[in-house]
Amino acid sequence: MPVQAEKLGGPNIQKLGIKAEYYIDSAEKLPELPPLNDANINLTIRQPLNQKDVAVVLIDLQKDFTTYYANQAVRGGRLGVPVPVPETINEPKSDEVYIQKTIQATKYFHEKGLKIIGTLDSHPQDHISFASNHIGQKDEHGNDIIPNVSRIILPDGRPQIMWPDHCVRPDSSMKPENAGGIQTYIPWQYFTILFPKGTQQNFDSYSGAQDKGGTSTGLIEYLNTNLINHVIVYGLATDVCVADTVVDLQQKGIEVTVVLDLCRAAFSTKKGVRNMESVGATVLDSLESDNTIQM
Ligand SMILES: [Zn+2]
Repeated sequence: MPVQAEKLGGPNIQKLGIKAEYYIDSAEKLPELPPLNDANINLTIRQPLNQKDVAVVLIDLQKDFTTYYANQAVRGGRLGVPVPVPETINEPKSDEVYIQKTIQATKYFHEKGLKIIGTLDSHPQDHISFASNHIGQKDEHGNDIIPNVSRIILPDGRPQIMWPDHCVRPDSSMKPENAGGIQTYIPWQYFTILFPKGTQQNFDSYSGAQDKGGTSTGLIEYLNTNLINHVIVYGLATDVCVADTVVDLQQKGIEVTVVLDLCRAAFSTKKGVRNMESVGATVLDSLESDNTIQM
């Protein structure tokens, strides 16, 4: 079930399975960046940004998907997670700049009055995508399973990439220090609504719209109900959950504009961009670039 952001504050944060005390803010070391404002944003979408039919969709901007925060998870005894690697030579090989950029962009859009909609990877501990739940099995080539590398064929014939444990929805047995990885690092106050995905044990869900068994997260229904027909999308990872979400949205008649420098790939940016452009999505280099969306 989606969670309305106004219900996230205080004790209601537990609706996402996250206790309020897990919201530790460790962002004080993030680098300062020049502020974003109308003067340096170069984004035109056929109408002013504050029109009600335009919204922002953030894909899986969660602590477990960043090096900066997931170090805590590794110390807590879990495996590391796919690290978004900066692909521009001017950025340090760390995701601190990326994290700050995405926070800043989200703040900008929030202050413009756009709805900020989030997806959150949210798995049970026994989720089918975790390599740790397939110990002793072999991959599709008969080799030992390596997280982030191997693919297995499930008993029903579906292929499944093997990931390290990530974004585990806390339960009463989980140590508090391990419970924070599911969180978004974007200040929760910016969100209008959040859609958990991958919540069923036997289906992965790269798309924020539906899982691999075809069960809807409610995202598309929410966009339709709110008459939102154009979304600005960014998040993690370009070639996995961002691409799959964008493809689903475009195919359901929602126009998508992806901001590439607010995304990071798990394996290949090129592959992600190719998939998104093949369904008609607009892919911009950045918010500050000289791109104008022609509608
Ligand atoms: Zn996942």
